[in-house]
Amino acid sequence: MITAFHHPGFAAPIGNHIMPMGKFALVAEGLKAFPGVRLAEPAPATEEELRRVHTPDYISAVRTGKPRALAESQKFPWSPQLFPSVCLTNGACLAAARQALRDGVAAALASGFHHAHADHGEGFCTFNGLVVAADALKAQGEVRTVSILDMDLHYGNGTAALASTRPWLAALSIYGSDYKNNKAYNDVNVRRHVDGPNHFSVTLPKGCKGPRLNGVLEQHLPDLLKSGKPDLLLYQAGADPLKEDPYSPLALSHADLLERDRRVFEFARQHALPVAWVLAGGYARDITKVVEAHLNTFRAAAMVFGDCA
Ligand SMILES: [Zn+2]
Repeated sequence: MITAFHHPGFAAPIGNHIMPMGKFALVAEGLKAFPGVRLAEPAPATEEELRRVHTPDYISAVRTGKPRALAESQKFPWSPQLFPSVCLTNGACLAAARQALRDGVAAALASGFHHAHADHGEGFCTFNGLVVAADALKAQGEVRTVSILDMDLHYGNGTAALASTRPWLAALSIYGSDYKNNKAYNDVNVRRHVDGPNHFSVTLPKGCKGPRLNGVLEQHLPDLLKSGKPDLLLYQAGADPLKEDPYSPLALSHADLLERDRRVFEFARQHALPVAWVLAGGYARDITKVVEAHLNTFRAAAMVFGDCA
């Protein structure tokens, strides 16, 4: 049985925005046809958990809407519902991570928010749920080391910045669009960021197809074990590398992303790494394509761990 954390309060009202807030509920609805998946509601992340990662000024801005520029630095219109919704999505990341330590695998029907920095948001990411979860488990002595595998289309710049002050965290970003200062750059031949000692990245070239992606995974998944086996793997399973995605320069199909997910889970199983995954980006105009990619991650987990679809 795989536990997937979801809450109707994940979606703050942001109007007609390219970020399809409705997808979380659609994925939850689709999972009702998966007898091996159990939906559960997470507790919201607490202010103490957020403060381990984010500055008091930034947390206060998201809570109160003031100053407005900081409260909207992630590019969402601020509303009083924003703060409770991002506490819930971050709480889901933590709940899934903790459940994975118990069951071996779990999911959060929320993003990992990999562009969020300590003192501001970027790219639709308010608080960095991946690092908030890792820090909370570390503080409670539930883990010593954590690895983050980021396979969203975009470079995980917020996670990279936060990893630089956390030597116990190792992060690998495999991406097809660079990201810096709230701008995406699809030409990944020009790198606009610097990896740190415990943050590594690999680029996927324009037009990248499945076999190339599989080769990259085969070569670089073992990098996650470089400094010893981590106690937990957090997997950012982005749907935006899909060829139908308006941001994607890659040529990856649903089948390619399913195979990507299967390989990641197989790697986790082989090395007995507890793995928690999050949905991450996905902006195809036909939202059913985004939902299908996220449901396929559950199908991939079923192939590897069984009893889930
Ligand atoms: Zn993305």
